[in-house]
Amino acid sequence: MVSRSPIDLVPGRDYPRDWNQFLDWFPDEESCLSFLEQLRWPDGFVCPRCNARQEPYRSSRGRLMCRACRYQCTVTAGSVFDKTRTPLRTWLAAAWYVTNQKIGVSALGLQRVLGLGSYQTAWAMLHRFRRAMVRPGRERLAGKVEVDETYVRIFDPNKLLKGAKRRGRAANTLIAIAVEVLEPKGFGRVRLKRVVEGSEEYLLPFVRETVQPGARVHTDGSPAYRSLSKHNYAHEKAVHLGADDPAHVTMPGVHRVASLLKRWLIGTHQGAIQSKQLDYYLDEFAFRFNRRTSRSRGLLFYRLLEQAVITQPVTYEQIAAPRGT
Ligand SMILES: [Zn+2]
Repeated sequence: MVSRSPIDLVPGRDYPRDWNQFLDWFPDEESCLSFLEQLRWPDGFVCPRCNARQEPYRSSRGRLMCRACRYQCTVTAGSVFDKTRTPLRTWLAAAWYVTNQKIGVSALGLQRVLGLGSYQTAWAMLHRFRRAMVRPGRERLAGKVEVDETYVRIFDPNKLLKGAKRRGRAANTLIAIAVEVLEPKGFGRVRLKRVVEGSEEYLLPFVRETVQPGARVHTDGSPAYRSLSKHNYAHEKAVHLGADDPAHVTMPGVHRVASLLKRWLIGTHQGAIQSKQLDYYLDEFAFRFNRRTSRSRGLLFYRLLEQAVITQPVTYEQIAAPRGT
């Protein structure tokens, strides 16, 4: 699916301009279903089984039936909303809240604002949205790109519940950061990934996954990056004017991203993140950072749902035990 360009998207027509308009647009489940249908099939319904393009038969509770092969489906089947028991109105309100809070929201905050019955429901909704925050096939960074690593301190909230002291359970985790540096000033997009250690074995694959060959890659000159030029990157090592040269002078992009990331992890999430979930929080941080100049928060709401309707479903069990851990 080709995502619609922001120039074609109009507030008040393609997405709600504000909360009042949101309430007007989504009074019931039907209005939510037809909005999601617009996002999933912008050029009209396409049968997931036979690919016929024809207006489907419609029955109650959003069931659609292909006129050609009689296959039945719903707009939410095969998406992050698959088999949900939470009303779509609640999902859309959650998406609105998540994207309108510039720094994001914790599960507890979402549970309170939506009046959800359980913390687990709020927690799983946020995690399902995080799965939709990475656009498949997204481009690699280009131009001038700073690459460095930083440590973040997080602690496991489950262990805290068992009575352990917060400080004792906090762990340092190494995060690789790549950020585009614009000229004459400003920063472009960012990519982040947790790495086991700051060695070539982990950092070279990170650069190759996230940065376009031909880019100018700026590093602190650590041996981990010594073979970048063999992989078609123009490698520039930061010039240290003195031993005490602060990072924000030589690597302003990664320094800025690292400090925003730490503030976000502590501020929004109180540093309480299960370490196996950290990659998904990094995805959310990148989603927000890369769209920070978006002229409308409604556009973020649109983008999040646009990706959510084409993102594979995940079960609660898969969320609670991700990536084989
Ligand atoms: Zn069909």
